[in-house]
This record gives sequence, C-alpha cells and structure tokens, in this order.
Amino acid sequence: MPRGVAPRQPARTGRQDKVRIARPRTAPQPQPKQSGGRGARAEAAAPSSRKASVSKTPAAAKASKPGKGFNPIAPERVNEILKRLNALYPDATCALTHASAWELLVATILSAQSTDVNVNRVTPGLFRKYPTVQAFAALTPEQLEPDVRSTGFFRNKSKSIVGAAKKLVAEFGGEVPNDMGTLLSLPGVARKTANVVLGTWFKKAEGVVVDTHVHRISRRLELTTHDEPQKIEQDLIKIIPRDHWILFSHQVIWHGRKLCFARKPKCVDCALEDICHAGDKTWSTVDMHKNAR
Ligand code: SF4
Repeated sequence: MPRGVAPRQPARTGRQDKVRIARPRTAPQPQPKQSGGRGARAEAAAPSSRKASVSKTPAAAKASKPGKGFNPIAPERVNEILKRLNALYPDATCALTHASAWELLVATILSAQSTDVNVNRVTPGLFRKYPTVQAFAALTPEQLEPDVRSTGFFRNKSKSIVGAAKKLVAEFGGEVPNDMGTLLSLPGVARKTANVVLGTWFKKAEGVVVDTHVHRISRRLELTTHDEPQKIEQDLIKIIPRDHWILFSHQVIWHGRKLCFARKPKCVDCALEDICHAGDKTWSTVDMHKNAR
C-alpha cells in the first residue's frame, strides 16, 4: 500500500472531528450488535468513540437505512460506498512489482492462490534471470518450475507462463496485446488476469478485477449475490460507473488486506460499518443480513 493512505484510525482520546452522529442528549446510545464468539464480544464492548471516522451525510444516512424496501444496489448507496473508499484509499494501485506489461502478466499468473508479498519475493530474481519474453519462451515449463515453486501450483503456473511467452513471441512480436479478446487467448489468462493487465498497465477499463477480496467484500456489501467471479463482475459492471472500475478493484483489495479480512473483519474500525449489513460482521450498529457473506 502506498504510504500515507492507510485507513484513518480513530483517536485514542475519542475526540475526533465529525465522528459522532448528533443525537439528543436523552436519546439512547446505539447498542453494538454481536455476531457471536469471544473476539466479537470483546469488540462489541469497544467504546463508541472507536467507531470509524466518517461523518454522516444525508446520503449516508439514507444508504445506511435497511428497513423495508432496502435496496443494496441503490445508486445513492453505491455512490456512498465509492465515496468512502475514495477517502480511505485515494491512491490505491496494484501491489505486484512490475516494470512492463509482460512482468505484470507473469506476476498476476503467479499471484493465483498466493500473496502479493510472496510473489514480489520471487519476481525480481526471476526477471533478472529471464529478462525478456523471448527468454521465457525459450524455456520448457519444467525448467521454470524451480524458480516459481514457492508461489504454489508451480507446475500449472510454469506451463501457463511459458505457453503465454511462446504464443506472444510466435504471434504478437513478443508484445503483450492490449485487448481483452487476445489476452484471453493466451494460456493461463482468464478475465481476472486480463483485467489486471488492461487496467493497471494499459489503463483500459474493460471490466472489474474480481479476486478473492473483491469476491468476499462485494458479497458482504450486498453488491452481488453471486459466487462465480464472472457473474460478480457482471453485477459490479452494472452498478459501478465505468471510470471507477479500475480504482474500485484496487481499493477493495486494499480494504480486504487492511480491515475486511476473511476471518474476523475489523468492523469496529471500518468506515463503511454503518452502511454494511454483512452477516459475519464482528461489530455492528445496524441490522445484519445473514446472507450477506
Ligand atoms: S464486514 Fe466489517 S470490515 Fe468488512 S466492510 Fe463490512 S463493516 Fe467493514
């Protein structure tokens, strides 16, 4: 994550500007809902001053009201989510180290079922050893396997990388194409990888990257009810403005790394808390929807 874009942390003093929702002195304070489990109970007991620091605008208030007829993909709610993600992660970008479209393609293939940190440990040495697409194309998958072993699924990944390099050299002059159809014709390249390369390197918004974080958080925020990445992407494309497709994925991926973990998300510190009804929240001031997970 780039420096200076960490989500704002509530002050220890509890004195944060624009944090508290104005209520009459006599009004009852919101009771955090518990999602069960010891950790959740401990977080539920956290003082309200720890609540994430986003002021409540009229749009936010409307977006956070579930009630009857609640529409999770209402434009005002989606806009509020985008607005808060922009405030949290204004400069979010791809965490995979790369210096060319080819390096990004290789890094993205290697990142399947692995972490970006792990991939970034492997790729500098890998690209020093094989500095060009042609150098990869001259290999057999078996020769590449030891170099990518630590990223997991190394046999399939080696096959994909060498296969993609051979095809690029044979048919595209060693250049990574900048259109979805051609990228998808490369071995081991599906929509997620193609979207990463198109969005991050070529700045082309052809779709939305759906990785494990985007999958999980889109479901928690009820932006989709689907489980298959392709269907999730189609849902997101319909409700997110096209000029936000690239940034949205990066922001959600960062949110998944920083707070919205698969297990025990840090809802108490989350700026989306009052508009998130996820069924597996660890701390909540709003209704939780059991299927939103
Ligand atoms: S589940 Fe928790 S951490 Fe994730 S978006 Fe909702 S409130 Fe934030």
